[in-house]
Amino acid sequence: PAPEYVQAIAPYQAGKPIEELAREFGLDPASIVKLASNENPLGMSPKARDAAVAALADAARYPDSNGYYLKQALAQKYGVPVEWLILGNGSNDVLEIAADAFLAPGVSAVYSQYAFTVYRLATQASGARHIVVPAREYGHDLDAMAAAIADDTRLVFIANPNNPTGTFAPGEAVERALQAIHDAHGTRVVVVLDEAYNEYLPPELRFDSVALVRRFPNLLVSRTLSKAYGLAGLRVGFGIAQPAIIDMLNRVRQPFNVGVPAQAAAIAALADHEFLARSYELNRRGLQQLSEGVAALGLTYVPSYGNFVLVHVGDAPRVNLELLKRGVIVRPVAGDGLPEWLRVSVGLPEENARFLAALREVLG
Ligand code: PMP
Repeated sequence: PAPEYVQAIAPYQAGKPIEELAREFGLDPASIVKLASNENPLGMSPKARDAAVAALADAARYPDSNGYYLKQALAQKYGVPVEWLILGNGSNDVLEIAADAFLAPGVSAVYSQYAFTVYRLATQASGARHIVVPAREYGHDLDAMAAAIADDTRLVFIANPNNPTGTFAPGEAVERALQAIHDAHGTRVVVVLDEAYNEYLPPELRFDSVALVRRFPNLLVSRTLSKAYGLAGLRVGFGIAQPAIIDMLNRVRQPFNVGVPAQAAAIAALADHEFLARSYELNRRGLQQLSEGVAALGLTYVPSYGNFVLVHVGDAPRVNLELLKRGVIVRPVAGDGLPEWLRVSVGLPEENARFLAALREVLG
């Protein structure tokens, strides 16, 4: 039998395949709009796709365990030595690797109420104790999180921007919390700063988290190519930290955790600045379209800095079911403690419009 702490895990609720939903609701699969997983509605950069396809020729061999070329590209982009980088099978993998390396029964992890589900899952799978800090206006209360650290705490998870709420903590607030944590606990507590949605931030809000990695030896910044870079299905994420942390992470990761086509696509995606700019711009307009659209229906929403919007609909199970009948898939977040809300990913303009029209119909 699995340990009790594993048996106690509430499993991650993944959506059904589109074809399955289409059958269930008697819909044409091609007509279904999926705005449920914070994916890039543009797909991936054609250059990344071409690179992935070309790399299939080498995929009978194991991938490069150290991701030499991808790390070179990342080292250049972020101005750090390759020893400061770890690759993950999505950034989810980086988060789990951090939990594997630093958590165990008898220690604790701190994270915010309404944060990314994987913090809870990874903490629980490691047998560690959870310290869940109440949210402030749906976002992280970073000062309270720093203050909540206990003697047995080894990890703090911060999502910025956060999922599922889309909130953002400015650079000064993050820096203040990091300073407080480092002053009080030194390198005994590792902070994971999960910046999966970083590329969607407007330029005036972006701050240099890599500079913070240089200042704080207990900081691990996590990034992904699943969102703005459009590689969600290929699974590429990475972490940036000082070598002492990276060394510990490398001890517990799978040796071949990022596949051959994924590494090749990631290198091409990082170089396709034009695609990234298009993704950013499409998302900026889509956020505006969705936010204005739900506000016009009289609904409350949390202003978002990601590629999704959290919308208060009241009877979320009913609204979700009615949206499904109309071929629109969004994400219920009851499992995250938000039973009256739905999370809607930004799609193409016409997809956002389909969602808004269906929602208007459902709400009468
Ligand atoms: N962090 C946050 C905050 C996320 O929302 C997600 C994706 N839902 C991830 C990490 C993990 O994404 P991936 O594994 O695809 O990089």
